Amino acid sequence: MTWPGTTGVGAGRYAPSPTGDLHLGNLRTGLLAWLFARSTGRRFLLRFEDLDTGRVRPGVADRQRTDLASLGIDFDPPLLVQSERAAVYADALTELARGGLTYECYCTRREIAEAASAPHSEPGRYPGTCRELTEAERAERRRTGREPALRIRADRAEVTITDLLQGEVTGLVDDVVVRRNDGVAAYQLAVVVDDGATGVDQVVRGDDLLSSAVTQAWLARQLGLPVPTYAHVPLALNSEGRRLAKRDGAVTLADLAPLGWTADRVLGLLATSLNLAEPGEPVTTTALLHRFDPERLPCTPWIVRPAELVSPPK
Ligand code: GLU
Repeated sequence: MTWPGTTGVGAGRYAPSPTGDLHLGNLRTGLLAWLFARSTGRRFLLRFEDLDTGRVRPGVADRQRTDLASLGIDFDPPLLVQSERAAVYADALTELARGGLTYECYCTRREIAEAASAPHSEPGRYPGTCRELTEAERAERRRTGREPALRIRADRAEVTITDLLQGEVTGLVDDVVVRRNDGVAAYQLAVVVDDGATGVDQVVRGDDLLSSAVTQAWLARQLGLPVPTYAHVPLALNSEGRRLAKRDGAVTLADLAPLGWTADRVLGLLATSLNLAEPGEPVTTTALLHRFDPERLPCTPWIVRPAELVSPPK
């Protein structure tokens, strides 16, 4: 299952979904993932997470690559594109099923939301409706013509992961979907299979994904893959404290360029937000690598106010 030529040296990765141009928050997470990997002698890989085909926009993956390169973020092969890897995910699903670790789920989103609002339900967790269906009950649901998703049977396993920024994090594994009801592998499975196949042993990403880490670590173990070290980094937020988004103003390289923000200056801005440079100081990714010290990273979100970005510092 391992990619040829990738054993031995560990790897970090950046795994954007090609649904829109990268904004300052995405670029900052990509820079951090690169710094964590390169400062520890790891390979650094790019992976396009494009399984949510309805949200993928043509041309975006290429622009994301160009934007990362213009900041000085470089990648090693292989480049993975998840939509090309259905057969690999199918093998992993077969392995899980063989171990009795998956079950069919016929619930609609609405049914899950309704069950989740019942007394004693645990918010954010699958309520377990289809976990113990009998063969007759499954046959009855099949007759409605509804295609099932596949969920993992995690039995509320408790898992602890090590996070370089958050310390030890313990949580209960949720029965997440690993194959969607359109037959496509789900995010949770694809991430684990791809990280395992390319020797990724260091996962650096936004802290909105922290709660997925215990589930992904559990899945890795079930598939006989090593569990990576994690670093969940604080996100960039807008002035209202919500996750930064394109609608917040000029926050992508393409939007910022006409305001005088060259890629170098944006790199300086990101470096300043990470306590790695003074405002306006010219920097390169190589220079940042020498300065990088995870201990000095800010542990609170970066607040981005596009009104303050109307022109770069002189
Ligand atoms: N594709 C996910 C995103 O763009 C990242 C997944 C991950 O890093 O595990 O938010």
